[in-house]
Amino acid sequence: MAVIGAGVAGLAAAARLAVAGHPVTVFEASASFGGKMQQFDLTGEAGDTYRFDAGPSLFTLPQLADDVFRLAGRDPQHYLRYERLDPITNYFFADGTRLSAWADADHFAREVEARLGAPAADVTGFLARSGRAYEATAGTFLHKSLHRAGTYFSADTLRAVAALPSLGLTGTMHARHEKAFGQDPRLVQLFDRYATYNGSDPYQAPATLSLIPHLEHGLGAYYPEGGIYAIAQGLHRLAEEFGVQFRFDEPVEEILTAGGRVTGLRTAHGSYAFDLVVSNMDVVPTYRRLLPHQKAPERTLAQPRSSSALIFYWGVAQEFPELDLHNIFFSADYKAEFDAIFQQQTVADDVTVYVNISSKKTPTDAPSGHENWFVMVNVPHDQGQDWADLTQKTRRAVLRRLSQALGQDVEPLIKAERVWTPPGIAHDTSSFGGALYGASSNNALAAFLRHPNFAGRLPGLYFCGGSVHPGGGIPLCLLSAKIVAELIDS
Ligand SMILES: Cc1cc2nc3c(=O)[nH]c(=O)nc-3n(C[C@H](O)[C@H](O)[C@H](O)COP(=O)(O)OP(=O)(O)OC[C@H]3O[C@@H](n4cnc5c(N)ncnc54)[C@H](O)[C@@H]3O)c2cc1C
Repeated sequence: MAVIGAGVAGLAAAARLAVAGHPVTVFEASASFGGKMQQFDLTGEAGDTYRFDAGPSLFTLPQLADDVFRLAGRDPQHYLRYERLDPITNYFFADGTRLSAWADADHFAREVEARLGAPAADVTGFLARSGRAYEATAGTFLHKSLHRAGTYFSADTLRAVAALPSLGLTGTMHARHEKAFGQDPRLVQLFDRYATYNGSDPYQAPATLSLIPHLEHGLGAYYPEGGIYAIAQGLHRLAEEFGVQFRFDEPVEEILTAGGRVTGLRTAHGSYAFDLVVSNMDVVPTYRRLLPHQKAPERTLAQPRSSSALIFYWGVAQEFPELDLHNIFFSADYKAEFDAIFQQQTVADDVTVYVNISSKKTPTDAPSGHENWFVMVNVPHDQGQDWADLTQKTRRAVLRRLSQALGQDVEPLIKAERVWTPPGIAHDTSSFGGALYGASSNNALAAFLRHPNFAGRLPGLYFCGGSVHPGGGIPLCLLSAKIVAELIDS
């Protein structure tokens, strides 16, 4: 069988299928594996070199990666090691307040009470409710195909759906946070931020997304030894050990069909016969470019896209002890920021800035006395905006915000720079519009409207990755690979 694309889901699907005994060939358009989970080195004028993870920086549910290694009968530690983070994130609010989000819920809640003056019990109570909601729903909504009748009629599913109102999971995420923390807009903003974990808008997204904080404070946030790219490296190594063939620099141009089912695929090198094809390419270009003669599921493909990102990769000639691995500098008006992204398809003047510094954990990622800053702003997916202009405007806003919060001019410290824009992300990974997480989760039915992990009208075609069920982000991509492997061997 063939896998199109060596993103994290494609790698995990290939490894799982090879472990199950299938001969697997992966066709990858780029020169290497990883997709959005790429890494690169950046060298400044003085020859100073910085390593960057290009895309994801936050790693939760690491056991989903371990599961792949265990399935193969291997010790996960031989492929991927990681540490639990504590604190998880440093927050810098627009009013000057600083807050560290400690891993342990009680510790975090005490910090909130000390720094923000909000009752610790509000935080512990909310996180406990998120935990209960996660336990009640994740098995149904994330771990299985939602598009097989068996899932709908199982007792677990009926229980999960029936539980939603009693778990307080109706209405929007923001409304739920206002109810829980209404007396402190900073806490509302902090918890609203979790909508961005799948590229959504907290003012539209359903309250079910407010169980995401449980992933960090209940189950933990992690850092892989050597950086996020170590996840892709571990999966690639396992896949190779089980005989997966990788054909890099070989983009698939067409999925071949005959008699109403998949028969193979075509690249610039020729045609190959395959009964089964798993596409890890974004589902929209899979239909538009690789299956131009097939009837596409238009309603599914028309779902609004998630947000994208503008990322500035900076080699910074100074160390900042007040910063850690994950740092958030909030804007003053979150609503205006999300309205700009999702209503006006532009970037607000005042933006929330995320700074990830992997050299805090892996010192060799930057020269001594320097840091590698991954500086990210949430922006709309590409719809033909003037990105050169938006990039310059946003760069100025980011520098203003960081310089103000850190009490010094940051720009002169930048010794090396690269920028990734939504069109760049689309070009480099074939993600439709450069959206980071496929379709957004801005409506209550989003979970059901994502494309299934199989093509209903074309036997032999399966899908994994962030643009299909159960969604984007490393953990859900790993789950999509599991679901696909299980569907194929069911
Ligand atoms: C800037 C950024 C920040 C992010 N932050 C986080 C985070 O902190 N935590 C988190 O969990 N997630 C994060 N994400 C999301 C996460 O990176 C993605 O959900 C995940 O990596 C997507 O993996 P995927 O398997 O869907 O494939 P992708 O990474 O999209 O890879 C698809 C692969 O398919 C290949 N391909 C496409 N078309 C073809 C073709 N025709 N033939 C052959 N190959 C093809 C591409 O070259 C690519 O290698 C972030 C993403 C970005 C970009």
